[in-house]
Amino acid sequence: MYKAKAYSARSATSPLASTTVARRDPNERDVQIEILFCGICHSDLHQVRDEWKNVMPTVYPCVPGHEIVGRVSKVGSAVAKFKPGDLAAVGCMVDSDGTCPECQAGLEQFCPNVTLTYNAPDKHLGSVTYGGYSERVVVDERFVLQVPSNLDLAGAAPLLCAGITTYSPMRHWGVTKGKKAGVVGLGGLGHMGVKLAHALGAHVVVFTTSTKK
Ligand SMILES: [Zn+2]
Ligand SMILES: [Zn+2]
Repeated sequence: MYKAKAYSARSATSPLASTTVARRDPNERDVQIEILFCGICHSDLHQVRDEWKNVMPTVYPCVPGHEIVGRVSKVGSAVAKFKPGDLAAVGCMVDSDGTCPECQAGLEQFCPNVTLTYNAPDKHLGSVTYGGYSERVVVDERFVLQVPSNLDLAGAAPLLCAGITTYSPMRHWGVTKGKKAGVVGLGGLGHMGVKLAHALGAHVVVFTTSTKK
């Protein structure tokens, strides 16, 4: 275990402040990532302000951030997909049981034992998980994604939550050439929806109350 620099909220009303958090030494299946960019998701704001206290009470200090892009600095002996120097990304989840029907189907986001990237029980260190507003993170290789080197890395970070949130339902419902996709609201997720649906070949329509958008 070692300490990594991070930004944390100490209460629902305090601004984020510089601190350090514990990170585990990489085990055989872990990837250690030096974080270069982390998007700011609205979920980060909800969590640090404890606005989900009835379903997911915030454990303070809270280090949010689940749109992480960085460079691999160390890998465990059993890691096959990554080597030091590779670009890598982490989204909303960092672990799951791997054995339930949802995991077996590749739908780890529905696993009853999924571990979210922050504010979730950390089975390794016994505290809670700490997110991407940090200099470094250690994650099981199953939850680390490859990043093409031709992407703008700062712009790629929001793909890890806002992007997948819009991409997943479009794939589920078969958005493709010859189909029409309607996007309600042109905000952080909406503009991704427009670009992704267009890239998938669909006819795209935006519903908005503002003609400027
Ligand atoms: Zn998010
Ligand atoms: Zn599972």
